[in-house]
Amino acid sequence: MALRTVTVLGSTGSIGVSTLDLLERAVAEGAAEVSVTGLTAGRNVALLAEQALKWRPRTAVIADESLLPELRERLNGSGVAAAAGAQAIVEVAGDGADWVMAAIVGSAGLAPTLAAARAGSVIGLANKESLVCAGPALLAAAKAAGGVVIPVDSEHSAIFQVLQPACIDRVSKLILTASGGPFRDWTLQAMSGATPEQAVAHPNWSMGAKISIDSATMMNKGLEMIEASYLFATPETKIEVLVHPQSIIHSMVEYEDGSTLAQLGPPDMRAPIACAFAWPDRLPWPAPKLDLAAIGSLTFQAPDLQRFPALSLAREVLRLGGTAPNSFNAANETAVAAFLDRRIGFLDIAAAVSETLDRMSANGGFGGGAWDDALETALEVDNHARRVATEVVSRLDRLN
Ligand code: NAD
Ligand code: MG
Repeated sequence: MALRTVTVLGSTGSIGVSTLDLLERAVAEGAAEVSVTGLTAGRNVALLAEQALKWRPRTAVIADESLLPELRERLNGSGVAAAAGAQAIVEVAGDGADWVMAAIVGSAGLAPTLAAARAGSVIGLANKESLVCAGPALLAAAKAAGGVVIPVDSEHSAIFQVLQPACIDRVSKLILTASGGPFRDWTLQAMSGATPEQAVAHPNWSMGAKISIDSATMMNKGLEMIEASYLFATPETKIEVLVHPQSIIHSMVEYEDGSTLAQLGPPDMRAPIACAFAWPDRLPWPAPKLDLAAIGSLTFQAPDLQRFPALSLAREVLRLGGTAPNSFNAANETAVAAFLDRRIGFLDIAAAVSETLDRMSANGGFGGGAWDDALETALEVDNHARRVATEVVSRLDRLN
């Protein structure tokens, strides 16, 4: 494999760390040649500096500007430039690296991911929220610049791998599998008292706090339905969610002739990251491979829409179209932050998202298609929905 320049956005997070781990092993084994040109993080200045001293990028950026002096001090004499702030992240993201891992969490990742798309980089896309906020614009920008977006979300990586471009018109269904999260078998009453600690304890995956809460509410699967709809140009009616507690089948594509193709793998995000990095080649796998005989059985069940209303909300939002997915995402980010702060209960998250969407549709609805200035439109909608969601959350907080 030829030398590739790489930028990792969100390098200190769960996906960022897994990405650098995978690249380090691939380089050590001679399976890849990598020159890291940019690393960015939110607040974890110690880990960012440690990564920068190891990988020697041109620039390391910390989002929180108050941490710049500390980053400078830690990188002093290393030859790595220290920078800070959202705009500096956008600049590093748009630097034209061969491969960019988009692994910032939330809509904060939108501007940098869009910059990477506009620069024509190959993007490993973990930051699903950026696609939910501005999917059509992001994909169009990548295409126009000669780049490509390769999904890292395990479900979408699975579909990407088994979707045969020659018969894309013969797809009858995309089936997204879901572990069901830590509350898969909890009663509604038990869920109403769930704490942040219980909600982040995912049975199969070790992930950042926000996506762990999203898995517990199944908002994550809702966001993934929207992500799949944009990535694979598929309407909501052809997207199904199937609970599969073992997280071994990462998703499936059903064709018109009744054939269903699935992708299987260990529940380890380094697998879809490796796929997004090496595609259409493959990297050697650094951990034990799947042992299906030891796993013994794979089970499936239909999702419970009553306990997990996030799934129906995501469908509604997809049907509404326009900027409704963007508002859905912003409302969810606001509600998750309030839950993590213990201001609202677990079931209030979906209730807050639902009420935010209702208020917004009653008040003008969800304009769509005005993607001339995609970033500005998306950020305006994001801000507006956050303001409405903040009011809704305060009301729920007062009720508690
Ligand atoms: P995380 O919280 O562990 O890491 C997030 C990264 O973004 C960190 O480096 C953090 O410093 C940085 N960051 C946070 N806020 C920022 C801001 N305002 N500006 C700039 N940088 C900021 O999250 P994660 O679990 O690694 O998830 C990252 C993305 O990947 C999310 O969009 C998530 O949905 C997606 N994803 C994660 C997994 C997983 O297994 N962790 C699986 C599929 C998809
Ligand atoms: Mg996923």
